[in-house]
Amino acid sequence: MVMFKQKCMRCKKNYVKVGRNQRFVVCYDCQKKEMKGEVRDPKIKKMLDIPEEFYKENSFLRDIKVKAIQWGELSERQIEAFKKTVEKMKKASENPKT
Ligand SMILES: [Zn+2]
Repeated sequence: MVMFKQKCMRCKKNYVKVGRNQRFVVCYDCQKKEMKGEVRDPKIKKMLDIPEEFYKENSFLRDIKVKAIQWGELSERQIEAFKKTVEKMKKASENPKT
């Protein structure tokens, strides 16, 4: 995945790593509050239960979490994309490049 860095649209201070198709760029600090809510769907709740580091690192994962909290549900595509991203990040953290 091609990543670039862009300034957070909210605080205009922190840089955020973003993918190509990402329109809304918000840093972890700005999104932290929105990520505090409860998710009612137990399946989604379990899926969102990943190391906080992953949310700090990846703005896409933050975005999905905020959406899940706001809407209470996610589309199949969003769930798939979330799982794939987490999978990749897990692999990357297990096999750090030397
Ligand atoms: Zn910010």
